[in-house]
Formats: sequence, C-alpha cells, structure tokens
Amino acid sequence: SPQPAANIGVVGLAVMGSNLARNLASREGNTVAVYNRSYAKTETLITEHPEAGFVAASTIDEFAASLQKPRTAIIMVQAGRGTDAVIDQLVEAFEPGDIIVDGGNALFTDTIRREKAVRETGINFVGAGISGGEEGALNGPSIMPGGSAEAWETLGPILKSIAAVAEGEPCVTHVGTDGAGHFVKMIHNGIEYADMQLIAEAYDLIRRGTGKSPAEIAEIFAEWNRGELESYLIEITAEVLRQVDAETGAPLVDVILDQAGAKGTGAWTVQSALDLGVPVSGIAEAVFARSLSSKPAQRAAASDLPGPSASWTVDDADAFVEDVRKALYASKIVAYSQGFDEIVAGAEQYGWDIKKGEIAKIWRGGCIIRAQFLNRITEAYDENPGLVALLTAPYFRDALTETQEAWRRIVVASAQSGIPAPAFSSSLSYYDGLRADRLPAALVQGQRDFFGAHTYKRIDKDGTFHTLWSGDR
Ligand code: NAP
Repeated sequence: SPQPAANIGVVGLAVMGSNLARNLASREGNTVAVYNRSYAKTETLITEHPEAGFVAASTIDEFAASLQKPRTAIIMVQAGRGTDAVIDQLVEAFEPGDIIVDGGNALFTDTIRREKAVRETGINFVGAGISGGEEGALNGPSIMPGGSAEAWETLGPILKSIAAVAEGEPCVTHVGTDGAGHFVKMIHNGIEYADMQLIAEAYDLIRRGTGKSPAEIAEIFAEWNRGELESYLIEITAEVLRQVDAETGAPLVDVILDQAGAKGTGAWTVQSALDLGVPVSGIAEAVFARSLSSKPAQRAAASDLPGPSASWTVDDADAFVEDVRKALYASKIVAYSQGFDEIVAGAEQYGWDIKKGEIAKIWRGGCIIRAQFLNRITEAYDENPGLVALLTAPYFRDALTETQEAWRRIVVASAQSGIPAPAFSSSLSYYDGLRADRLPAALVQGQRDFFGAHTYKRIDKDGTFHTLWSGDR
C-alpha cells in the first residue's frame, strides 16, 4: 500500500480549525489531512482551497490511515463534550507514540484529566492554548502547548512553523506538562479581560469628563499607541471608536447595546485564582463589570438612585487625558502582575516548571494582548527569575513612581463624578494594600479569634496565641 500522504492532521473544520489547517498547509513541507464530523465543512474547505492540497477524510479511520507515523492530529472542535468525543475516537484509531493535540479552549483541569487518561494508552496528549482568533489561526497565532517533552520534540518544529513571529522569534514554547498550556492560555484571557476593561474605563472617563467625541477619543488612543501603551487592544480601540454606523450615521459605539458578553475564560481565571488564593482583583473586577453590564433589570431599577450632588468638571482637558493615560498604564501593570502571580501559584500547585519570561515572550505576537510592554516583563524575569511580584521589578517600580499620583487623581475623579472605574480603583487599592506597612488584617485576626478561637500570631514572638476575650460568649 502507498505511504500515507499527510504529516499532520486537523479534526474540526469550523472557523478556527479550517484557518489553522490552511496555515499548516501553507508551510513548506506540510501535507495536511482534514476531518470534520459532518462532511459538509470538509467539502467546503477543500473546494474553496484547492491550493492547500488537503487530504480529505470522511471517517476517522480514513483520517488515521492518511497520517504518517507517529501520527499527529490537532483537534479544533467545540470545547467540553465535543472534545471528549473526538479524543475517544482518535484514541481508538491511533497507536502508541502518536500525538493528539487539543487546540480548543479547554479548561486546564479537563486537560489534566484527559492527558492522564490518554497517556495510559501510550498515546501522547498535548493541551495547547491557541490565541488570536480566526486571523491568528490563519496567519500565525500565539501557541501555548502543555504535554510531555517527547511530544514537544515532534510537535515543536510544526508549531514553530505556524506560530506568529515577534522580533524574529516564533510565539510558541513548551509551557509545561499536561494542563500547563491551557492554564497559561486561561491567564492570558483573564489579563485580556482586565486590559479591555481598563481601556473601556479610560474611554468613559475621557468622554464624560471632557465631552470629547468618540472620533476625537480615537485620535487619543491612536496617539497612545505610539507610546508605552502600544498594543493590539489600544490599536483596535481607536478603530472601534472611529467607526460610524452605516444605518444611523451615529458613532457605532453609541449604537451598540452596552451589555458585554463573555465565553467564560475570564471567569475561569478568577475561579482558579480563588482556589489558589491569589488576589487577581483587577481581573475579577473586569469579569464582574461585564456581569454588571448584563443586568438590565437591575440597572433600570437603580437608574434613579442619587449620584454626586456637587458638580464636577474637568478644568484642563489635556492634563486630565494625560492623567487617565497614566492611570491606565499603572492599572495595566497591576493586572499583568496579578496574572503572573497566578501563573506562579498554579505552577507550584500543579508541579509545572513554567518560565515566566518565556510566557511574556510568546504573548508578544499573534494573541489578543500582544504588546511592546511584554518585553519589559521578559526583561524583569530574566534579570530576576525569583521576582516575587512583577510590579516591584525596577522598570515597573519606576513606571508606578511616575504614574501613581495621576492614578490617584483619576480614582478621586471617578468617585467625585460618579463615573464608575472599578478596575482603576480596585487596582489602586491593591497597590496600596501591597505596599502598606501594616494592614487591618490584624483586626480581622482579632475578630476571628474572638468568635471562633481561630488563634493569631504575634509580631514580637513565635507561637500561636488565643486571647480569653471578656464578654459573654
Ligand atoms: P466551535 O463552534 O467551537 O465548534 C464547532 C466544531 O466542533 C465543528 O467542527 C463541529 O463539527 C465540531 N463538533 C462539535 N461537537 C462535536 C462532536 N461531539 N463530535 C465531533 N465534532 C464536534 O468551533 P470554532 O469556533 O472553530 O472553535 C474551535 C475551538 O477553538 C473551540 O474549542 C474554541 O473555544 C477554540 N477557540 C476559538 C477561538 C475563536 O476565536 N473562535 C479562539 C481561540 C480558541 P460539525 O461541523 O460536525 O458540527
């Protein structure tokens, strides 16, 4: 019988899978086998892209037979049950030494479970976070694979060939074993939520504080994109604000319903942070801000609650805008610092050897949070791999020194004006909490000991103490 034609396969040919398959096919030396549960999607893909030279399979067995050994297949199907169903089929059709990659948005604990089950069959399982949406899948995403070193040896060159390139380096690295890749992808999404919310708060404060139009604010963001805030999200914010609604002629942002959706990865980041005991307060505020926006009945009921009685005005619009920029930058540093804290805690909890500097590097291209800024994070961890909090690294310390007064003015302005800025203000409180000499946690310990005899420690000697509190309990 003839040699199987394909060196790599893709299962699941919806938006992400078909674009990833085309990306793979466009690279020198690849022949790509494609399979989808319903053949219609396969047919569309091979008909629309004859240049890709796809090897189309109509059954999973045909798909397996078309792959050279060790077989390597990337799954891009609906996360959850769809992914489990496809893994089961591939495990049946594949052999020990083959590699199954889940490129979907899986919850990392599912990946840990799947990796364990698949490993028992002798097949390698790699959970790979893939960021960058449709465009990234086609032209180069940021890829965060977790799995065995053995699988990485085969898979690494293929993933490097299709990943985004930032400053000459492919945006992919072997993150760690089993769920490490999907965990880091989850944190990426949590940071993305925070970044987006902070930008939205900056826009709202400028708009309501200075009365500038969305088109004028678009120019401000375009300007910011030439400085230290340079990033994909700042860039697309300018584009969104510039957009005019074809139907009404109004700025599109004024026509869009102000209720933010979510697919759940931000919530996962926060749930996992709660389990790990990591205060990702900025990221949490961003997730909650979307939830709050999507409560129309509560918002309607609360809309006549009183706001500030004193009038609030911005005297110097340019100075205000500059303060907002600094508040955004400072809050962004907090969000990334919190996200990396969660990576450190997750790595410790699950036994992953995650190189923080490498993670910042592979986020420089292809993904939604891509930014210049990430180079500073890599430098910070290169300089000091044991860095206990990103925001204390010299570069970020300087940035916070430069911005913190403006940040405070903006949080004050938010409170005085009644313009909500939950992520700005929560990030500032986090910053002040972390740098505080003494925290009122001492009082909380006293309360806990009072009602629950939970004991406390003292500042002046070792041991565990309990006070015989007076009062009738
Ligand atoms: P999707 O809408 O999430 O899923 C549709 C695909 O899943 C179809 O190919 C469908 O096959 C297949 N599928 C569903 N249940 C199945 C089952 N039980 N057995 C076999 N196949 C099944 O597709 P997508 O938007 O391209 O996303 C794919 C994955 O990438 C998801 O995990 C998603 O979370 C992740 N992701 C998406 C983005 C994005 O921007 N969209 C970005 C990053 C990651 P049929 O055609 O037969 O129905």
